[in-house]
Amino acid sequence: MTQTTTELEALLMQRSLTDPELLEAAEKAADYRILPDATVIKIGGQSVIDRGRAGLYPLVDEIVAVRKNHKLLIGTGAGTRARHLYSIAAGLGLPAGVLSQLGASVADQNAAMLGHLLAKHGISLVDGAGLSAVPLYLEQVNAVIFSGMPPYQLWMRPAAEGVIPPYRTDAGCFLLSETFGCKQMIYVKDENGLYTANPKTDKNAVFIPKISVDEMKAKGLHDSILEFPVLDLIKAARHVREVQVINGLTPGNLTRALAGEHVGTIITAN
Ligand code: ADP
Ligand code: MG
Repeated sequence: MTQTTTELEALLMQRSLTDPELLEAAEKAADYRILPDATVIKIGGQSVIDRGRAGLYPLVDEIVAVRKNHKLLIGTGAGTRARHLYSIAAGLGLPAGVLSQLGASVADQNAAMLGHLLAKHGISLVDGAGLSAVPLYLEQVNAVIFSGMPPYQLWMRPAAEGVIPPYRTDAGCFLLSETFGCKQMIYVKDENGLYTANPKTDKNAVFIPKISVDEMKAKGLHDSILEFPVLDLIKAARHVREVQVINGLTPGNLTRALAGEHVGTIITAN
């Protein structure tokens, strides 16, 4: 062990930080899961929160009940108001970094509303889920709420084309689950999962219960139910090698998915 550390240190001091031997040495230690018992759930912005009371009240009741048995990091999407902002800001010629800040403010608003709904149950909104109080909240009340947008802000890496920030709340929630080495990542949206086409516009769309990232890309579904960069994040993940997308408008689905049941579409790394 000591020898490995010394070797690694020597490599780190002398080589480029992308040197193959250095990377191999840096891989030697076993991966460590920071919050292995926690699950990240993302509550969709457009798909759930924008529905207001009809979408959120039943889900809030379910969250309050399930957190007795599960540790939850609850992230929020942004949704229609962010899309409105993106269209105005893009029309003004503003860049992805600015749109990222604007979108984050909407995910923040949604997190604030969810925070107020869950306040009486002792579930708090944290300002940035990386903060040190998260483990304490999880220990005490089994749940915490965070705003789903990753905090790239002005430093958002732009997409190859256009100014829409590619890493939005699907990505932010996934990255958090992977960084913390969480047990599960569940996307709560408004369809039963992935279909062969958008079920809102195609009556012949067929449900796909399970699919790998590569199969999804091969079928041209890379930009459908999840933000497209999330597929590559899943593929490269060390801990969270699959995610489940479920219909949060069906009561009981979240509870069942948390119990490990297959109720939506499971998207796997391989
Ligand atoms: P969120 O609210 O979490 O941001 P989105 O609205 O971005 O969720 O994504 C969910 C939506 O994706 C669904 O409501 C559905 O209309 C749409 N969608 C597009 N293509 C597909 C597909 N092939 N299968 C399922 N849903 C799809
Ligand atoms: Mg979305």
